[in-house]
Amino acid sequence: MRIHNFAKPTLLTLALNLTFGLGLRAEPIKALIITGDNISVHDWKASTASIQQILKSPKGRFQVDVTATPATDLTDANLAKYDVLILNYFPTAQGGPDTKWSQANKDALLKAVKSGKGLVSHHFASAAFARPNWEEFEKMIAGGWRTQGFHGPAHEFRVKKAGSHPISDASPASFPHPTDELYSNNLLTPGSVIIATAYCDPKLPKGTGKDEAVIWVHQYGSGRVYNNVLGHDSSAMADTAYQAWFRNGVEWAATGAVKARN
Ligand SMILES: [Zn+2]
Repeated sequence: MRIHNFAKPTLLTLALNLTFGLGLRAEPIKALIITGDNISVHDWKASTASIQQILKSPKGRFQVDVTATPATDLTDANLAKYDVLILNYFPTAQGGPDTKWSQANKDALLKAVKSGKGLVSHHFASAAFARPNWEEFEKMIAGGWRTQGFHGPAHEFRVKKAGSHPISDASPASFPHPTDELYSNNLLTPGSVIIATAYCDPKLPKGTGKDEAVIWVHQYGSGRVYNNVLGHDSSAMADTAYQAWFRNGVEWAATGAVKARN
């Protein structure tokens, strides 16, 4: 009987598996921030600059590109260049034609994530395409604000780790977060895994008295998804603990692992 040598792992394939399969892929991780439009209370230029700043460390770990013209750049060929896509985008009537997603743009994004690109949804991106609802987008980003979310006045609150996950294993059990919006009643699509919550104080306006999910993860096809509803503005995003979570979330979405930091 013929022995199928091709089925045996060779040293080369073992080495490749060790390099890529365990998330220890060659640096840098290539990230694309997709932006260019948002409601006026969300300064997408400033928050995009904050994301770029966050991903400047550790040095050389990430290579970050930005598109503010998704109509041009959400294509199969362009998205193929990246390991992870970061949504900092909400379509408005004021957005120019270069910011509008055509059906082909939408299809390219769904296909990219489904086939294994990581995806990060930042803050109000989880409300995008909800009126009318683009169900596949909602499924891909694993929900969030959509149309049922709400928040009281921005305030300081504590963010708490929930469960064990590579993104947060090295993080403290909780951290104090500076003034930010505490999105409440987020939609979590079935299978979502909550990795951080914040208690919504019922003594404050619109307080729910519940631990609200603020960061969760999911899978869309082969793509890993990190949904983070924190980070209303650059001052909220200046929080170093928030930044560590975000950085790890991008890395995990891209590679499936988080490298130990010194
Ligand atoms: Zn906001």
